[in-house]
Amino acid sequence: MIYLDWAATAPVDPESLAVAADSYSTHTRNPSAIYQSGQAVSMHLLNNRIELAKALHCQADQIVFCSTATEANNIVITSFLNHTPAEIITSPLEHDSVYQPLQKLKQLGWKVIEAPIDLEGRIDVEKIPDIINKNTVAFFAMDVCNETGTVQPIQEIGMLLEKINRERDRRIHFHSDMVQALGKKEIDLQKMKVDSASFSAHKIGAIRGAAMLYLKKAISPLYGGGGQEKGIRSGTENVGAIDSFIFSSLKTIRQLQENQTHFLSLKRELIEGIVSLKKKAEIHLLPTEDPTRLLHSDFFSPHLLQIAIPPLPSEVLVRLFDSKGVEISGGSACASNSKKKMKRVSEAMQYDKRIAESTLRISFGNSTTSDEIKKLLQIIEESILDLAKKF
Ligand code: PLP
Repeated sequence: MIYLDWAATAPVDPESLAVAADSYSTHTRNPSAIYQSGQAVSMHLLNNRIELAKALHCQADQIVFCSTATEANNIVITSFLNHTPAEIITSPLEHDSVYQPLQKLKQLGWKVIEAPIDLEGRIDVEKIPDIINKNTVAFFAMDVCNETGTVQPIQEIGMLLEKINRERDRRIHFHSDMVQALGKKEIDLQKMKVDSASFSAHKIGAIRGAAMLYLKKAISPLYGGGGQEKGIRSGTENVGAIDSFIFSSLKTIRQLQENQTHFLSLKRELIEGIVSLKKKAEIHLLPTEDPTRLLHSDFFSPHLLQIAIPPLPSEVLVRLFDSKGVEISGGSACASNSKKKMKRVSEAMQYDKRIAESTLRISFGNSTTSDEIKKLLQIIEESILDLAKKF
């Protein structure tokens, strides 16, 4: 099988799995226990936390470990329920783990406003001051979009909000979902001026069951418990999964340049192949047909490409590719209601209906090869395009 759905989940890196296995057998005690072996686990966690903080340019006590990025996003969003309803700004492309809890807030009387985006899915920073008012308390904008690969101008938004916040009594909290950004672009939490950010282990080759919430300043969570992770995420720490997450984070940050070059070369090969297929049949590069834009890492992540092969529906395309030995996504595979989500994102991107219904997401990882891209292009040329013509 050729696996080209790394944005959904990355196969576990054997090295990271070994780190987890070693950790589970070495650090067997609860880190909250006060006897020496428990405290040794707590110390081990602290030392690792310090290493991760250095790599992400933050402080160790600004890191909260949790189990999934969905949980991390929810902790931040639900914390606003401690306040009287006000206004929140978000991007229309957010992952369901941000979009859905914001819908809940809406039902509870909050106003949720979508920031205007351009045809590449990027938030128009200049228009942000027009949608902020005295009731605005938070801004949620993902860094790299898991559907389109669009890179948002997080640092520019962060700097703008910092400036606006200087003149306000009530600060606007800036949260960014950086799940698809870690290991694909540079992350400097201090420079990016976010108040909080989320990351997930299973997107970077670590074992599942760990994630991270960066919090510049502590917030008051809606739920409570044993008070672990400074009371922000109560529940016994999954030390083995956290160790695997930290190992994979440090590895992917260390290998960033090498991986970016690799992804970009695969993406270039894929785009060139699709451009040449366009002469024979209908196939689209999304969200723009301009290869130079798509290959510019400031605008689009190098690990992901969205395409469309109308009039074949995404679901049919995914099954066809699967039957030919290629696993790709018709959208956000980790979302159970991915069809609805695809529709929401496609509408925000203003794709026409034919294209919206036939989108595919191809995403690579560090072990993806040029031969796999060639095979994918061959399958598109020899099997898929003919079917699309007859459909
Ligand atoms: N945010 C983005 C951008 C994602 O792509 C995903 C998973 O696909 C998530 C959040 C959710 O991550 P997790 O599976 O750790 O809850």
